[in-house]
Order: sequence, then C-alpha cells, then structure tokens
Amino acid sequence: MRHIAIIGSGPAGYYTAEAALKKYGDDVTIDIIDRMPFPFGLIRTGVAPDHQSIKAVARRFEQTALGNNVHFAGNVSVGNDVSIAELQELYDAVILATGAPNDRPLEVEGSDLPGVVGSAAFVGWYNGHPDHRDLELPVDAKSVAIIGNGNVALDVARILAKTANEFSGSDIVGHAFDNLTNSNVEKITLLGRRGPHQIAMTPKELGELGQLERAQPLVDAGDFPDESEDALLEPGMRKSITHLRDFLARAEELSDKPVKIYFDFFAMPVAIEGNGKVEKLIVEKTNLDKDMRSLGTGERYELDCSMVISCIGYRTPPIEGVPYEHGRGRFANDEGRILPGLYCVGWARRGPTGTIGTNKPDGFAIIEAVADDIGSGANKEGRKGLDRLLKKRGVEAVSFRDWKKIEEAEIANARDGAPREKFTDVAEMIAARQS
Ligand code: NAP
Repeated sequence: MRHIAIIGSGPAGYYTAEAALKKYGDDVTIDIIDRMPFPFGLIRTGVAPDHQSIKAVARRFEQTALGNNVHFAGNVSVGNDVSIAELQELYDAVILATGAPNDRPLEVEGSDLPGVVGSAAFVGWYNGHPDHRDLELPVDAKSVAIIGNGNVALDVARILAKTANEFSGSDIVGHAFDNLTNSNVEKITLLGRRGPHQIAMTPKELGELGQLERAQPLVDAGDFPDESEDALLEPGMRKSITHLRDFLARAEELSDKPVKIYFDFFAMPVAIEGNGKVEKLIVEKTNLDKDMRSLGTGERYELDCSMVISCIGYRTPPIEGVPYEHGRGRFANDEGRILPGLYCVGWARRGPTGTIGTNKPDGFAIIEAVADDIGSGANKEGRKGLDRLLKKRGVEAVSFRDWKKIEEAEIANARDGAPREKFTDVAEMIAARQS
C-alpha cells in the first residue's frame, strides 16, 4: 500500500488524485488536505461566478473525491497545523498542489494607496473567499483602471460592467452582487503594456465583452497593425483579434451603452497618485522592441480613476522548508520533483498559466514520477497518523461528507435564480456541517 498526501484541492490536486487512482487502484490511499473547509480551489473561488459551465468540472472531481481510498481533510493548514516534515514522515509522497493564490506585486509608486487592489483579492471578494470577504473597496468609483491584458483582467472588467439581470444564474456572493449592481461605474480602462497582437485574452471571453447589456468595449484603430498581419497569428489569437476589430466596427451601433470599457494599448502604468486614496494613474506610452518587449517612450498621460485593479499574474506562497524560486514565484522543482518524496504540480510547479485542463496531464505526469520513485511504498502510516496528529492539536478537519452538508446549506440559502449562496466565513461553514 502506498500513502499519498496532496496539499491543495483545486484542479491540480484532484487531477493528481484521479491519476493516482488510475495508476494504483486499491493499492493507494490519497489524502487531500486543504486550508479551506471547502474543496475545488479556484473552481469555487477563481472561476468567474457567471461562468457556471466551467465550474461543472467539479462534478468530475467529486467522483474522485467519493472514491473509497480518497479522503478530504479541509480546514487543515499545512505549515501551521502540520508541517511538511511531519507529512513526509507519514506519507510515501507529499504533492504540493497549492496553486498561486497571491498577487504578483505591482511595483509602481503609490501602489500602497487605498483603492489599489490585486486581482486575487478582488476576484476572491466577488467569489466569497473567506480571506477577502472584508476587502475595502471604493465601491462608489466612477472610473476604474484594470492593469493587465489577460483573461483575469477580462473577467474583472465584465463583472464590474454587468447588470443584476446579467448575474442571473451566477453564484456571485450577495455582498458583491449588491455592491456591483448599485455601483456608479461609468468608465473601465484595461491597460496593456503591449499591443493588440500581444494580448493574453482568449476568444470566447473577449467575445462576451461585446454582448454586455449596458457596456461598450472601445478600441483605438491607431493601435492596430495592418489587418494583413493578423494572418501570421496562431488561430486562437486570430479569433481574439477579430473580436477586437469587431468592437471597432460596431462602435456606432453600441454607442448608446452608458458604461464604456476602453482598451488602452501600449500603456504602462508608472505611478499611482492621490491624496490618501487613488485619484489618478500615471501611464507611459510604450513601443515594442524587436523581441516584442515593451519599452517606455517617455510620453505620459494621466487617467483619472478611484480604483486600480492589477491583474498581472500570481505567486505561490512559500512554505517553510520547501525550496522556492523567488524570481518566478513558485517552488524550485525539476519536472515536479522538489526533494525526495516531495513534489509539486499545477501552478505551484509551473507558474500561473494555462487552463483548468492543463492540470490534467500535469497530474498524470507527476504520478508517473512518484511511481518511479516510491515503488511499492515504504510502510508509512498515512491517514491514521495524520488523524492522530490533528486530534492531538485540536484541529477540526472537515471531511468530504461534512462539505456536502455545507454545500446543501448553501444551496438552500440561494437567492432566486442562483445556484447557491456561498458562506464566506469559515466559522459559519463549520457550524453548517453540524446542522
Ligand atoms: P496572464 O494571462 O499571464 O496575463 C497577465 C497580463 O498582465 C499580461 O497581459 C501581462 O502583460 C500583464 N502584466 C504582467 N506584468 C505586468 C506589469 N508589471 N505591468 C503591466 N502589465 C503586466 O495572467 P492572468 O490573466 O492572471 O491569467 C492567469 C491564467 O489563468 C491564464 O492562463 C489565463 O488564461 C487563465 N484564466 C482563464 C480564464 C478562462 O479561461 N475563462 C479566466 C481567467 C484566467 P505581458 O504580456 O506584457 O507580460
């Protein structure tokens, strides 16, 4: 029998568990440990609340979670309640699937002003993550600047722009729904330090921006290369650019929509200014060098805004005793191997890129590496030892069965048209599992 501990219950964690079950059948026990009392990580707290079809992958993970040899231990913080060294004593393999929940810092002057938030915090706030439920936001902002040209920036712009009607069927949490649908927002500016051909936005998500009830996406024709150059792009990118060109073509048709979403390309934020709070963003125009890197031109402009949301990527938080690559914000690893018996997978291994599905081959590959390394296992104690440690320390682990009770309560609490109303407080979740 082999005993495997997976730290983190997001897509990387569950695809890895699925791979281990496929590889070993009944000859393995898998404990999935999570700091939160709920499973599925970014499926719950990262994927946009109006993208319910993407969240449906949780049903697949649930099949794995309900497998005989799979155990969920939520509400257990590795590094605090139990150390990596202790887990390594108990398990043949410890696999870190901890994702990248911290914002990559926006290193410009003024980024500590109230009103500047990172996307991890902002997305966590509207998705009901307990760490971010109390985020202070200038909710009366008329003008919001969003830094970054990736899918997270798009999610944030769309969520800021939607009407109450457009949130129907979503599981946006009550506090965010109330705030956003009563907001004063009139102008949302997406700032990309490079050009339309360098965006990291996918076509489906970009297309949605052109279908909003009250918002119009606006691009500047002068930022685009000649249309003939679109043919050189790979097909996905070409579709994305087609959407951007479509926004240009439909400018007149969409002009009566009151909320404007501007794409400011070749625009690099250099400072944030304001008297005790954000009042403006100072932006430098850029050119691209021969390697497509952005270079400041010295030409600057000011963007009046009361909120700045930086969507420029994420970092994996370090864990004591685990080698870490500071420059890239992830664990130091060789194809997922960190130290003997210690592995990483998903964003904790390769950084915050790719879709949910990218984690599947990742999970299967790491289990092959584990299999090569651990053979038939080394008579470790596994779950029994973990349970004993947690009991001794008074840690109340949440099982998958407990989670299903919490979920039932969330479904029962849903407002009309919503699939659930999430608890945003850990103590409330713990209480709900006992009801
Ligand atoms: P991302 O795709 O890496 O985009 C980050 C953006 O931030 C890029 O435009 C980058 O510009 C810009 N940036 C980085 N540092 C900057 C700086 N210092 N100043 C200004 N701009 C800066 O990251 P993401 O949007 O956080 O998404 C993470 C991953 O999740 C991606 O793989 C994404 O596709 C995925 N995701 C998917 C969906 C979906 O499928 N619906 C939704 C959300 C997220 P440069 O290109 O110039 O570096």
